[in-house]
Amino acid sequence: MNKHLKILTASDETNLQREALFASLQLPSPVHSFVFCNHHFYLKRDDLIDSDFSGNKARKFYYYLFHQFPEIKTLRSYGSAQSNAMYSLSVLAKMRGWEFEYYVDHVTEYLKNNPHGNYQKALENGMHLFVGQKFPSIKQNEVLTIEEGGRQAESMFGIMLLAQEIVAWKNEKNLEKLCIFLPSGTGTTALYLQKYLSVYQKKPTIFVYTTPCVGDVEYLKKQFDLLEPDERYHPVILISSKKYHFGKLYKEHYEMWLKLRHDTDVIFDLLYDPIGWRVVLENISLFEASTLYLHQGGVLGNVSMLLRYRRKFPHLEKEFF
Ligand SMILES: *Cc1c(COP(=O)(O)O)cnc(C)c1O
Repeated sequence: MNKHLKILTASDETNLQREALFASLQLPSPVHSFVFCNHHFYLKRDDLIDSDFSGNKARKFYYYLFHQFPEIKTLRSYGSAQSNAMYSLSVLAKMRGWEFEYYVDHVTEYLKNNPHGNYQKALENGMHLFVGQKFPSIKQNEVLTIEEGGRQAESMFGIMLLAQEIVAWKNEKNLEKLCIFLPSGTGTTALYLQKYLSVYQKKPTIFVYTTPCVGDVEYLKKQFDLLEPDERYHPVILISSKKYHFGKLYKEHYEMWLKLRHDTDVIFDLLYDPIGWRVVLENISLFEASTLYLHQGGVLGNVSMLLRYRRKFPHLEKEFF
């Protein structure tokens, strides 16, 4: 045997695969710029990281994509049957060659009979769905468990990278002060982003603002406390003038989404972003410095929301296009 011939070991091979995978992701994600309602905004396009693995779930699950897990054969999580996290985890499991087990309380008859959106795509990726069954609490060496929505410390690795990208971009642009806005669910993305921005900056010039979309302010504060007790690292919470229930249909949300699509040519998410933009516009005096809105993906989840919105407000879309 030729002793100079380099023999690829299994781990070399996985390293090569990992490098190829990393190169295929659009990182750092691009920053675009537009005017909306007479205000200039920068937009960090995390929705463009990859066609399947994108948005803040790509950031939160980044660690699981690149870390070595020699024993793991199965990825296991739980949550709603339409969630963006569920879909992203199904992509992650497929990329890593793992089985994917997902636990939901229930699936509506309509969704079962007319699979669409995240649910359909996750099933197509091989998701094993467990409906109405207790989530297994025993620890198994070959099973990797991920909390609902990625609310856990491992999320910080990908969000740290996001923070680094933003600092590098701000320096390149020579911006003095920067406000970042992103709407929150569990608050994990907003919290770790503020935390790492605080750590990286000698003098704070970047400030993270967010708003609760899933629960109320108390819920969001509690989520922040669970992940980081030191309040100096918490983002600023802004509240919309009207209370909304997560996942319910509101004409003004649909209008905001259509106006965004019409004026900016960007497809935003229909669950979080209409609330996010409402809060930004309601508090526009806070965003006089350069402002970066974080697009956190979730566009595949729009399929089910759009079906419902079009059924409820069949003529609204024509007013915009
Ligand atoms: C999951 C998700 C959020 C919420 O992220 P958290 O880290 O839980 O706050 C916001 N927007 C979109 C599009 C999402 O998919």
